[in-house]
Amino acid sequence: MAAMAAGLRGLGGRFRWRMPAVAGGVRGAAQGAVGQRDYDLLVIGGGSGGLACAKEAAQLGRKVAVVDYVEPSPRGTRWGLGGTCVNVGCIPKKLMHQAALLGGLIRDAPHYGWEVAQPVPHDWRKMAEAVQNHVKSLNWGHRVQLHDRKVKYFNVKAGFVDKHTVRGVAKGGKEILLSADHIVIATGGRPRYPAHIEGALEYGITSDDIFWLKESPGKTLVVGASYVALECAGFLTGIGLDVTVMMRSIPLRGFDQQMSSLVTEHMASHGTRFLRGCTPSQVRRLLDGQLQVTWEDHTTGKEGTGTFNTVLWAVGRVPDTRSLNLEKAGVDTSPNTQKILVDSREATSVPHIYAIGDVVEGRPELTPTAVMAGRLLAQRLFGGSSDLMDYDKVPTTVFTPLEYGCVGLSEEEAVARHGQEHVEVYHAHYKPLEFTVPGRDASQCYVKMVCLREPPQPVLGLHFLGPNAGEVTQGFALGIKCGASYVQVMQTVGIHPTCSEEVVKLRISKRSGLDPTVTGC
Ligand code: FAD
Ligand code: NDP
Repeated sequence: MAAMAAGLRGLGGRFRWRMPAVAGGVRGAAQGAVGQRDYDLLVIGGGSGGLACAKEAAQLGRKVAVVDYVEPSPRGTRWGLGGTCVNVGCIPKKLMHQAALLGGLIRDAPHYGWEVAQPVPHDWRKMAEAVQNHVKSLNWGHRVQLHDRKVKYFNVKAGFVDKHTVRGVAKGGKEILLSADHIVIATGGRPRYPAHIEGALEYGITSDDIFWLKESPGKTLVVGASYVALECAGFLTGIGLDVTVMMRSIPLRGFDQQMSSLVTEHMASHGTRFLRGCTPSQVRRLLDGQLQVTWEDHTTGKEGTGTFNTVLWAVGRVPDTRSLNLEKAGVDTSPNTQKILVDSREATSVPHIYAIGDVVEGRPELTPTAVMAGRLLAQRLFGGSSDLMDYDKVPTTVFTPLEYGCVGLSEEEAVARHGQEHVEVYHAHYKPLEFTVPGRDASQCYVKMVCLREPPQPVLGLHFLGPNAGEVTQGFALGIKCGASYVQVMQTVGIHPTCSEEVVKLRISKRSGLDPTVTGC
């Protein structure tokens, strides 16, 4: 307590002294002084998972605090409350994806009778400013929501002092000590820089910067080939930039590889260049300000070079655990990934300390899973619930120019688990009606459903490549989560004319060898 008082004095009145909380109803806390701690729940990290957990606990009448602090990117980009999704992830990404899709619609428009002078230039500044303003409104909205629910928010960087106490350090160096009966770690992750590549940190940017650039990134090299890389490369190409993706192995590792190949095939046919089997070895700045990148081409064994205005590293993310002093609390992490190890109740190696979201080992790195895990955790802690988060059959969508939505197993996983002879795959190449009038190529519009072969053929996975894949997949995810079978999907009446109806019309199996191209209505 003396240390806490000293810490608070150090804050010079910015954080007011309060009497310690009386944590009514909290029983069996690991250490003494139950009822003497500041909060029932302290959440470290004000992103998707942390905010959801804090708000739910406050709704259940508990005394809750959230600490959130954004360490600026190496480029100096910083942002407000809300975490990765709001500031440097889903939200700005989807809006910039929308900007790119609009470019396609503008090209379609004359075919539908609109007299639009082509080509229509795109203004990065305008787009970025509009997106950034929206993000700032969300930052503000989160602060208001916390205030309305009486959740105390501290803009400090947190690290453990002991199992129940956290030290927060504000921007100016002032410190605060906060204690709680329960602590939830929801600190997410940050983009990884390939430290071994000369010039990578000095000259490259990451997804933490791209959405906050005031000027267009210009000719861009995107290194990596997963969600972040392909989505960014997709919208940058879509707004008219010269974009190259450097892929060292396969696209979208972990996803169905037939679908992933179609995603990159579509991108390539719409102007994104791909350097396959290549890894960068050096980035240096030329006298004219451009960045010269040298790479190894592992297929030919030769070295390649190219010049770009921007190099965007999209080579994965690292959990934000290093500054948490987890050892002081005894929280175990994976030695390989530094992610926090938890059980099915999201409990860490310390019973009253929990972890949710991207910072946790083995969890999907997605906003809705972090949010749901946070809510359920609060309900278990304070609402008498015993419901666990179910991470099975989590749907997701990759927002590439042609969107790829999926839920359940890939074809490869289904075959690996059940054997080729027990898996039936139904598929179709279809043409969205909207593509017909402007004569858009629909070669990559494809849907497949992976089922067990034995009747009633339970659906193991659904993969949809086409416009609005997120919207399509979300609906079917419910059915698949509820255990839908192929027979039930075939009994479902379609909505005409939509792309979703192609799912309920899947009659051709891969095994049959018949042409899966949809003809007619
Ligand atoms: P975060 O949202 O990362 O929040 C963690 C917070 O904790 C941050 O504000 C961080 O600054 C703070 N923090 C860290 N350390 C400390 C500390 N010591 N003290 C105080 N505060 C700290 N998911 C989707 O579902 N759909 C998408 O379309 C999608 N698009 C994405 C696009 C990109 C480019 C990226 C990078 C991610 C995307 N994601 C998407 C993933 C999604 O953003 C994350 O899964 C989600 O934000 C994870 O939430 P979280 O609560 O675990 O962590
Ligand atoms: P991933 O870890 O999924 O992918 C990293 C990519 O970088 C892989 O293609 C990998 O290649 C490549 N790579 C790694 N190291 C190097 C290197 N040294 N040189 C060249 N290439 C390299 O990371 P992401 O950042 O793309 O995504 C992180 C998570 O964020 C995702 O798993 C997802 O859950 C979430 N996210 C969700 C989105 C959505 O819901 N739409 C959008 C964006 C992100 P290789 O395969 O060879 O290892």
